[in-house]
Amino acid sequence: MSVLVLNAGSSSLKFQVIDTDTEASLHSGVFEELGVSPDSMSIDAAITAALESLPAGLNVTAVGHRVVHGGEQFVDPTMLQEDVLTQLDGLFFLAPLHNPANLAGIRAAMHALPEIPHVAVFDTAFHHTLPPAASTLALPEELRRQRGIRKYGFHGTSHRYVSGVASDLLGGDPHTHRVITLHLGNGSSATAIRGGQSMDTSMSFTPTAGLVMGTRPGDVDPAVVTFLLEHGGYSAAEIHAVLNSDSGLKGLTGSSDFREITRRARSGDEDAVLAMDIWSWRIRHYIGAYAALLGGLDALVFTGGIGENSAEGRALSVLGLEFMGVSIDSYLNSRPNSKTRTISPSSSPVSVFVIPTQEELEIARQTAALVSSPR
Ligand code: AMP
Repeated sequence: MSVLVLNAGSSSLKFQVIDTDTEASLHSGVFEELGVSPDSMSIDAAITAALESLPAGLNVTAVGHRVVHGGEQFVDPTMLQEDVLTQLDGLFFLAPLHNPANLAGIRAAMHALPEIPHVAVFDTAFHHTLPPAASTLALPEELRRQRGIRKYGFHGTSHRYVSGVASDLLGGDPHTHRVITLHLGNGSSATAIRGGQSMDTSMSFTPTAGLVMGTRPGDVDPAVVTFLLEHGGYSAAEIHAVLNSDSGLKGLTGSSDFREITRRARSGDEDAVLAMDIWSWRIRHYIGAYAALLGGLDALVFTGGIGENSAEGRALSVLGLEFMGVSIDSYLNSRPNSKTRTISPSSSPVSVFVIPTQEELEIARQTAALVSSPR
């Protein structure tokens, strides 16, 4: 089956065609700066251009769409029909930045390719197995029950994919595997996985929570928000901008680019050194917490732009964790390599893997599985 995977973001469209029998990528591309000014490309035009860019003879048999938020109702890949689109419209309030863009892409693609099945694959879905103790926020009942305020978690497609690869590498009975996956990129999250099921994850009601990210702070005392509203002269929109665009590594150093921050830290820039300390301190905090929740650890996985590429980022993330069996071999860690690899010493009780994430492949697999045997 040739699955076209579409990821329609707020200003970009990424696309890739994957042969799900061989898992080969047959074609891919990206359109950026969509809809940012009156004369920039619309999502409909980008979808048309993406389809026109397909090599002659490449026939797409299904489309898999990345959708950020599935709310409480969408926990599996879902065949897209009009009633599902209406339900997705109703979830905009949960992901006001992402879901409308995802849905605009879905509508444009369904219009352009009306004869073939379209499937939504949700970023939140992998985390539907969170136990109530992890997913329930300690808030009054009205907020929890009537407003849908709970931990949903994100990056699920990535965490699912890399934890599956980690389980294959570990061998033995996958139901017993205790794995922590670290998706470290511009957006970052950690997930605790037992037997292939997500047990806890660091992003929460929104992708703002958890680890320190490129432009988001991760965990902060929620009373900072009320303080800014009451005493700081900030509007809700300004606080939103602070928490999504101006914080994290950017707030600490002026740059969200981990490569640049690493370079600056190497040359002694104090802000950059402190930012990397804060960034990795939070990661170690989550590794310790999640190993405790899982009752031990078999594997730690690095993925995402930083996790896959930054030897320094990985080394800082496991600093001082030898006491819990987590260590990395500095030669294996620093050798340039873009493939899946083990970076822990062979004698190590906990395997540390670097696994390049393949969200498009995971979406294509799930799309093909649903199209071949619809539920
Ligand atoms: P992502 O959002 O997964 O694309 O990751 C983006 C982040 O990965 C940015 O902070 C980049 O600076 C960082 N990154 C990409 N390549 C490298 C590299 N070779 N070394 C360090 N950081 C990198």
